[in-house]
Amino acid sequence: MKKPWYRQLHWQIIIGLILGVLFGVMAASKGWSAWTRNWISPFGTLFITLLKLIAVPLVLTSLVSGVASLSDVKKLSRMGGKTIGLYIGTTAVAVLIGLAMVNLFKPGKNLPADTRTQLQAAHQSDATNRQSAADEVKQRGPLDFLVDIVPDNVLAASSNNSSMLQVVFVSLLLGIGLTLTPDEKSKPVLKIFDGLMEAVIQIVHLIMILAPIGVFGLMVNTIVTLAQDDLGQVRELLSALGSYCLVVVGGLAVHCFVIYPILLKFFTPIPVRKFFSGISSAQLLAFSTSSSGATLPVTMDRCQKRLGVSEEVASFVLPLGATINMDGTALYQAVASVFIAQAIGMDLTIAAQATIVLTAVLASIGTAAVPGAGIIMLVIILEAINVPSEGIALILGVDRILDMLRTVTNVTGDATVATIIAASENQLEEPEEPFPAQGM
Ligand code: ASP
Repeated sequence: MKKPWYRQLHWQIIIGLILGVLFGVMAASKGWSAWTRNWISPFGTLFITLLKLIAVPLVLTSLVSGVASLSDVKKLSRMGGKTIGLYIGTTAVAVLIGLAMVNLFKPGKNLPADTRTQLQAAHQSDATNRQSAADEVKQRGPLDFLVDIVPDNVLAASSNNSSMLQVVFVSLLLGIGLTLTPDEKSKPVLKIFDGLMEAVIQIVHLIMILAPIGVFGLMVNTIVTLAQDDLGQVRELLSALGSYCLVVVGGLAVHCFVIYPILLKFFTPIPVRKFFSGISSAQLLAFSTSSSGATLPVTMDRCQKRLGVSEEVASFVLPLGATINMDGTALYQAVASVFIAQAIGMDLTIAAQATIVLTAVLASIGTAAVPGAGIIMLVIILEAINVPSEGIALILGVDRILDMLRTVTNVTGDATVATIIAASENQLEEPEEPFPAQGM
């Protein structure tokens, strides 16, 4: 029997989110920031930590049992090629949309000079911190990311959530090793992985019971941190940077609601409405956590249970996507870099804009799946096109809000590609929880 709407998880999350915004605004206007940080924010932190805690075990167990059940390893490399091709292709389209919109609407041209000076002064020290973080990234050689995929120690790799690609690599190796092992030896090991995977999925469901409270805590925290007991400041920021925000949001909306649906329509049998309803809990979590890494367990669960993507495809395509596929981030980086150039009166040549396409695609691959990572990589793009990177001070004030929206796009992109790959490999199964939702 269908649950009443208020018992369905995505509605509960929406309620937590709305109450969080309302409470956050009240707390900021009444000067309760410190109290809120002490007594409400920890619930959000706890929830996000639980999700991160489960990410490595989930990827490890589901990828090992997924790959080990593969009949032939060639299929894996074909799937890998298609996945990476689609990830890069969709990211390039996202950058082009961002560039087209920012060149069309030119939001940086009408930024008054005194607003520019104020913004620059207010966020100078924060901008310097991000620049030094970017400097560390720049020290690395062009092929270092390949070297980084292979860990020299299995335990160390699984002890760090930011080395998700290493976990993917180790799980793939173990899965392949098991397929090459005689049945009587591999079967008991596989049974253990299967059992562990089931247990981990149950834990994801348990954690999700806390989602409404977690999301409430996260939203309250975001708002009081943004407003710092002065809501007027947020209003001023939004009006100064309103047209820039609108261009980013408009670009993300085009990518999410035009490009993905077109791809889904042409390459999968899943109706677009069913797709969006199926992954809504993951999108809401992406919005409130600003982290595609923390959202990964829920993205995997929803793609399998609600869209019918097979375990094998979901456990390979989605962890890879959470680490290397960031369409929303790339689109935002394209808009932000041209906006900063416009605001300081620099005209970007076609060559510079082409550089943006290339560096934004590469930078989004290297961006960590955590809050605020996109703006650090933006420094690298700005330097590649010779725009002063101190310019990020202009947009830092509204970055958190845009981060929430670009993370939703990133997660939606991963789910779109997973569905397309599953359809192309004949691995789109009958979903366990068909539309409309029974639970999450
Ligand atoms: N927060 C984004 C993510 O986790 C990355 C970024 O754009 O900052 O997907």
